[in-house]
Amino acid sequence: MEKLQNFVNGVYCPPVSAKYFDNFEPATGEVYSLIPDSDTQDVDAAVDAAEKAFPIWSGMSLEERSKILVRLSEGIENRMDEFVEAESRDNGKPMSLAAHVDIPRAVSNFHFFATAILHFASESHYMEGVGVNYTTRKPIGVVGCISPWNLPLYLFSWKIAPALAAGNCVIAKPSEVTPYTAYLLGKVAQEAGLPPGVLNILHGTGAQVGDAIVKHPKIKAISFTGGTKTGEYIARTAGPMFKKLSLELGGKNANIIFADCDFEDMLNTTIRSSFANQGQICLCGSRIFIERPLYEKFKQAFVEKVSRSKVSFPMDPAAKLGAVVSKSHMEKVLSYIELAKEEGGAVLTGGHRVYLEAPYENGYYIAPTIIEGLAYTCRTNQEEIFGPVVTITPFDTEEEALMMANSTEYGLAGTVWTSNLKRAHRVADNLHAGIVWVNAWLVRDLRTPFGGVKSSGVGREGGWEALRFFTEAKNIFIKS
Ligand code: NDP
Repeated sequence: MEKLQNFVNGVYCPPVSAKYFDNFEPATGEVYSLIPDSDTQDVDAAVDAAEKAFPIWSGMSLEERSKILVRLSEGIENRMDEFVEAESRDNGKPMSLAAHVDIPRAVSNFHFFATAILHFASESHYMEGVGVNYTTRKPIGVVGCISPWNLPLYLFSWKIAPALAAGNCVIAKPSEVTPYTAYLLGKVAQEAGLPPGVLNILHGTGAQVGDAIVKHPKIKAISFTGGTKTGEYIARTAGPMFKKLSLELGGKNANIIFADCDFEDMLNTTIRSSFANQGQICLCGSRIFIERPLYEKFKQAFVEKVSRSKVSFPMDPAAKLGAVVSKSHMEKVLSYIELAKEEGGAVLTGGHRVYLEAPYENGYYIAPTIIEGLAYTCRTNQEEIFGPVVTITPFDTEEEALMMANSTEYGLAGTVWTSNLKRAHRVADNLHAGIVWVNAWLVRDLRTPFGGVKSSGVGREGGWEALRFFTEAKNIFIKS
């Protein structure tokens, strides 16, 4: 059985404890590799290496640093097939999705920040007759990056790339559920010539090694993406230590569809925004609100198309949905479907586990599920399910749609479908969300601020926001 390794001080190494635990393949439900069960001792070693590397890395010219990170981006691109296969196997997602979204985006993340840093500038404020202020933005030092399982390398690199570009040394932890592509990244870092200690990748559980990263006094900033409960714990733990925190948390996004939208475009995009990556994208629109005159037409077409979406093993090129990420997650999603029924919901399609033929008969597959007839206030409509489950609800007025959309504790993203320009602006403006798409979904420009409001998080990633997060500003005044 393959044993994954930590990547510390530029080399692969076993965890200090020499303990490992199982890594499951969601498509088959079988164990296929072993994950280092790292703990505080591994974090200590990684921090030592990172501290030693910091003067070298932060002292390098921007051009040199940029070149290394470009090589890192190219290194992933050169190993595209290996990364695609690994991501799909580890996570259960269709290979086509890993090939078109996950791995190309990881390539872009490194390339984008490798070049963005060359254009990053700081402010100067001139005071007429008094003097001039100029602001410097220096790297923080050793920072922690903790990422979830749904878009493993995509989100891992979304944090690591700006942290490194800004001149920090990184202690990074991928989710224990999907460690494989983060494991492969070590090789690429070696080949790219990243100095030892600049990037350290530790595997293990959130409760043990994740917690040790959050609590380590020499790790000065934590960039975290994951669930709201974990985010709350991290804020409570790291806050009193005055660490800089960026928290990208859960969502329960609304998709508001007005009767005057472009029906075909809306329908095809809504299928994606509901079920891409088995609904395990923090930006998926899991609550769909439809203007009443369009409701029946939408319902019929949506149910008809979704019921034909093929659930299959990740390597099947015809798979629209693959496996969900783990047995416990599958059970959680299925329990929410039962809850929806108890709350009075009618399952229009799906609603059950899917059993494929051998060797996939124990894989974690769920049919894409559409539920109607639920109150917007019920738990199914208020709590994050994070699986292939959506609810549909009619509305009569714009005010009612907004009131329902804004009723949850979350505020990550939202989608609006209308051909009325004024309404598009108005509704987008009044949605409680950090990101809104009008007549589109998941169009991403890496320069834009990314993040949520309310329980969906604190801070923004992307573009200058990320580079500002990973640097410390100092203002210097000179009297004239
Ligand atoms: P978790 O919060 O369970 O885990 C996220 C990461 O944190 C994992 O690496 C996890 O490790 C680690 N972790 C868990 N407990 C601790 C701890 N006490 N201290 C430090 N680290 C810890 O989230 P999931 O992995 O289940 O991801 C799904 C969630 O992520 C959903 O809520 C989703 O909405 C959210 N998400 C948000 C996004 C955004 O941009 N706002 C984007 C994508 C997802 P381990 O896995 O080993 O337990």
